[in-house]
Amino acid sequence: MGPGGSWANSRFSVLLTTTQFLFNLVFPDGCRLCDQPLLNVSRVPVCKACLSLPQPLQAEFFCQTCRTPFLSSYPLDHDGQCAICRENAVNFDFAYSFGSYEGPLRKLIQLFKYGKVESLAGPLSAFLLRAMPRDRNFDAIVAMPMHWRKQWERGFNQAELLAQPVARRYGLRLATNLRRKRYTLSQAGLSEAGRRQNLKGSFAVTRPEEIAGKRVLLIDDVFTTGATLRAASAALKSAGVARVSALTLARVDGRAPAAMNLDTDFSSTGLAPLGRALTESDARRKVSAGSGIR
Ligand SMILES: [Zn+2]
Ligand SMILES: [Zn+2]
Repeated sequence: MGPGGSWANSRFSVLLTTTQFLFNLVFPDGCRLCDQPLLNVSRVPVCKACLSLPQPLQAEFFCQTCRTPFLSSYPLDHDGQCAICRENAVNFDFAYSFGSYEGPLRKLIQLFKYGKVESLAGPLSAFLLRAMPRDRNFDAIVAMPMHWRKQWERGFNQAELLAQPVARRYGLRLATNLRRKRYTLSQAGLSEAGRRQNLKGSFAVTRPEEIAGKRVLLIDDVFTTGATLRAASAALKSAGVARVSALTLARVDGRAPAAMNLDTDFSSTGLAPLGRALTESDARRKVSAGSGIR
């Protein structure tokens, strides 16, 4: 190679180094899941390989209504319903989820929600689109609302960010009629009955005439016990909504050994929040410390 070539080459490598330098300033730690250097300039701090890891949930036995997976048909009645769905007369009509709340999908959701990496909304909503039921029609989409105070603390409503691309894709309205009335305690660590009590009267529907008689798709990030989705569905149904289908990214899979760790072991994932994020467990600690968030 001549001197001119190496000059051009070195200028090119300076340019590359500068680009890489600026890029590294934005994402100094590489992929937030696997630590490999990020090769493509993107606002998403997760590599393509990690984004392709989450797999759809597979189950041989599951509840016909909430689609909770089971190891056998034993917990299901002759209608194929689980005990929780049998108990709750007012319910969502169907629930769909992309995958299990574990492994890379769980890490991605936690990074999005608690690590406040809003740019993950796009890649994550692609999983929601994959889980959309092909054989059902909807008139409106509702994102699981957050209490204004919680949303102010987090800076965004993760369900809304996930629901926007789905609404756009299907040309549906993102209805804002469902509201969170009370600042509920964190649901993590509560029993199903405790969750129901905690959520009682926590939702309200404004301008019910806008969604009465409609088929609504209710979107949230994680299906834990379904209590929040049931409470929201009950509010929608009492406002006259004809049908509520729930769509979540992930569901807690009772068949997995780590299923009940839920969101409380955030520190063990190694995903440190960017800045000082108030996590669900922080909020609960505050409450139990007597600061009285309510
Ligand atoms: Zn990676
Ligand atoms: Zn069920």
